[in-house]
Amino acid sequence: MSLTLQQALMEGTSRLREAGIETARLDAGILLVHVLGQDREILYRAPEQELSSEELDRFRQLIDRRVDREPVSHLIGRREFWSREFHVDSRVLDPRPDSETLIAAALEFAAGQGPVEKILDLGTGSGCLLLTLLAELPGTTGTGVDISAEALEVTRKNVALLGLEARTTLLQGRWFEPVTGQFDLVISNPPYIETDDIARLQEEVRRFEPLGALDGGPDGLDCYRKIIGQLKSYLADRGMVIFEVGAGQADDVGELLSSAGFTTIRVHDDLSGIGRCVSA
Ligand code: GLN
Repeated sequence: MSLTLQQALMEGTSRLREAGIETARLDAGILLVHVLGQDREILYRAPEQELSSEELDRFRQLIDRRVDREPVSHLIGRREFWSREFHVDSRVLDPRPDSETLIAAALEFAAGQGPVEKILDLGTGSGCLLLTLLAELPGTTGTGVDISAEALEVTRKNVALLGLEARTTLLQGRWFEPVTGQFDLVISNPPYIETDDIARLQEEVRRFEPLGALDGGPDGLDCYRKIIGQLKSYLADRGMVIFEVGAGQADDVGELLSSAGFTTIRVHDDLSGIGRCVSA
């Protein structure tokens, strides 16, 4: 039996709702529109249109995977960050709206104290931070480092998607290990979840995102210590570093920076009012 778009939407929504997914209606709509390869407005323009049996099968399979807690971004293969689409899958951490705080802080620096020409991103993952900055700041070049070769395959896709090949260098290795030279801006959103808290993360994150991008050691601060320990020789005079930090970590990371001799330490709040980034 075939279903209309509206019937399929209702079926998908109720299955997701029964599975306890709060954004059931929204998710079902996104997945349906994805299967149809159409814009969202089709749901309003042609709710009586019938799905082909192949479309209905694919839609039901996606709903099954969503019931199993796979993130919507992985099911459709992309996620928006700072108004651009990024390819994402389980090889990288999903771009999160909180990380846009780092973009705002970096753009403010580039427009004010600047100038920013060379940018280094440690633990680049999807590349959403580095590539957004390169796209927003036309005169810049960027280096993205990641320990995961798999993650860098995703970064490379996004470099191509945004047409930034000529201005981007990608290096595999641990933090500064493969890096040479000095940078005006060093950014990083390193793993910062305390190891004991990993088990308490929501299922979508814990089961489908790379743990290597989340686990920050016993107190969540391991990566900041490692990076800050070597940072001086890679940061240009009057350059700036910006870290994303977990809720409640801003003061600790600020102290690590000040003990290492960094000045003008500032905390940048996210839209929920949580200290989300620390710059120095
Ligand atoms: N904000 C992410 C989360 O809570 C963690 C990101 C990170 O460890 N850098 O899932």
